[in-house]
Amino acid sequence: MSNALTAPHFQSPENAREWLEKLRWPEGPVCSHCGTIGHAYKTKKPGWYRCAEKECRKDFTVTTGTVMERSHIPLQKWLMSFYLLNASKKGMSAHQLHRALGLDYKSAWFMCHRIREAMRTGGLGPLGGGGKIVEADETYYGSIDKNMRTTKTTRGRPFTKKGRTGPSNKRPILALIERGGNVRTFHIPVADKDAVTEIVRDNIARESRLHSDESKLYFGSDQHFTAHKTVTHSHGEYVRYEKGEAIHTNSAEGYFSIFKRGMRGVYQHCKEKHLHRYLAEFDHRYNHRVALGYSDIDRTLAAIRGIEGKRLTYHQSHQIRF
Ligand SMILES: [Zn+2]
Repeated sequence: MSNALTAPHFQSPENAREWLEKLRWPEGPVCSHCGTIGHAYKTKKPGWYRCAEKECRKDFTVTTGTVMERSHIPLQKWLMSFYLLNASKKGMSAHQLHRALGLDYKSAWFMCHRIREAMRTGGLGPLGGGGKIVEADETYYGSIDKNMRTTKTTRGRPFTKKGRTGPSNKRPILALIERGGNVRTFHIPVADKDAVTEIVRDNIARESRLHSDESKLYFGSDQHFTAHKTVTHSHGEYVRYEKGEAIHTNSAEGYFSIFKRGMRGVYQHCKEKHLHRYLAEFDHRYNHRVALGYSDIDRTLAAIRGIEGKRLTYHQSHQIRF
């Protein structure tokens, strides 16, 4: 890691800007207002371009319209933070970045959430496909925030874990993992059969073979797929072989274990309304893991490519300089 951090684009804002321009604009500056490529000229202000399109003529930089827009954090520190969050297996907290990079804590916190937003993928095609196995499993992490608690209890709600009723005051997370491939996780307000069935159907290709535990949560998904195989965790069964097919949800459980260790060890506490962002971060690292051929640099570049069009706006009663 120390070698990677000596790269020129981590050393000064000018170098960082030049590097980011090369990455984002291989064919010349792209106007963030009208989308025109390579038809803009430099203004006197360093890093600023003016669109040469007659109808547009607007000014922009390489960070206009991205999660980095209007940030007061120097660009090389942004790039370094992208790298650090991508190169460490369990992530890096705003507190660690605040100390390591000399940023004030609040700014570091906002920056981390924006990086997570860049890591978030949305609107992708379904997981799985013909001959592919998709595992579905759920876990519970952290207490439900007071203002998000519902009157619904586990009694009467059909959500179960290993044959028992699930805890009503914990936050349910559902993970879908294509075996040997990508993960997609969801924080669901209440884990019941309807909610789970909808997510499973919307996110997994019909031709897939679904593996889950014996939970009733997945009963509604049965008819949708080529096959639905279950392992009976409540009887201590974790893998079963059927005509050469290993039936288990070990990939999903492996993912949850990385997620929980990371959340406990690095992030310690997160508000429920931010849980989906942390999940996006762990999903991103998992989907660009070494076993799939990604290096720390590849993983970082994939996150940086996601900066576009995802500027977060927080409505705060007081102005936070970011
Ligand atoms: Zn333009």
